[in-house]
Amino acid sequence: MATIIRAAEWTLGPETAQGAPRGALYEAECTTCADGSGAEEGTRVPAEVWALKHTGENPTHRNFRAVITSFWAVSPAASNPYSGEGQ
Ligand SMILES: [Zn+2]
Repeated sequence: MATIIRAAEWTLGPETAQGAPRGALYEAECTTCADGSGAEEGTRVPAEVWALKHTGENPTHRNFRAVITSFWAVSPAASNPYSGEGQ
């Protein structure tokens, strides 16, 4: 007998899988030359310092793209038929 799931409850939250970043990733990219700071987890300070130093070394490069990345995961709620299955 086929089962049709018309609606199931899901929850959205931070990704908690092993190896996933625990905080947001912060990075800065120069919009003049596309050089970047690289991503740092949980703090924006290294990206800010990188941007300041980058302008110090390249005085015409004064604009940056701030990129903040976080990861989400959708999980089945207790009432969802997928609840209890392995991840
Ligand atoms: Zn640059």
